[in-house]
Amino acid sequence: MIIGTVCCLRRSDRLRHQTTRPPSASPTRRLCSASRARSHSDLGMPSGFAYGKSMRTVKTCVGQEFCRFGLGDSTRLGVELETRLQGMESPAKMKLSVSRCPRNCAESYVKDVGIVAIEGGRWEIYIGGAAGAHVRKGDVLATVDDAETARQLTARFIQYYRENANWLELTYAFVPRIGLDRLKAVVVEDS
Ligand code: SF4
Repeated sequence: MIIGTVCCLRRSDRLRHQTTRPPSASPTRRLCSASRARSHSDLGMPSGFAYGKSMRTVKTCVGQEFCRFGLGDSTRLGVELETRLQGMESPAKMKLSVSRCPRNCAESYVKDVGIVAIEGGRWEIYIGGAAGAHVRKGDVLATVDDAETARQLTARFIQYYRENANWLELTYAFVPRIGLDRLKAVVVEDS
C-alpha cells in the first residue's frame, strides 16, 4: 500500500492517510507498479525492510493530522523510531507501532514493541505482542512520562533482545522465557 501512498504523494505532494504496511497485498500495487522504483527513488524513501530478519517499518495510527482523538504525537514518535532503527538486524523480524490513544488503531498491543499514548502526556510501552499465527497481547514494560523516554526504553529493549534471543525467537516467546520482571530490571531499572 506504500506504493499507493507514493503515487498519491506524487500527485498531490501532500500527506495522505494510509493504513496498511508495505508487504500488504493491494490492488494499488498493480496499478502503480510501473512507477514504483522511480517513485520511491524520487522521494528518497526505502521500500521497506519487509523480508529479512530485521526491524520492519514502524506503524502509526493516523495521528493528529487526521483524527480528533489522541493524547500524544504518534506519527512524530513513529518517524523518530523508524529513522533510528530501520534496517537493524535482529534474531527475528520485529514489528513496532505507535498509537496516539488507547483506541489503539495501530494495533500496538500486539506488536513486538507497541507504544500507546495515555492521559497526562504519558506513554505505555508494550513488549512481546503478536498477531499472526500466534496471538499474544504484549506485556507492559513501563509507563513513562514523555516520548523521549519511550524511545530510549524501546531502543534498550530491542538491543537486549538482539543480544539475548535465540535465532528466530520472536519476542512473544522471548519475553515469557526471560520473564517480565527480569526485563524490567534490566531495561527500565538498568540493574
Ligand atoms: S489511536 Fe486514537 S488518535 Fe490514533 S487514530 Fe485511533 S482513535 Fe485516533
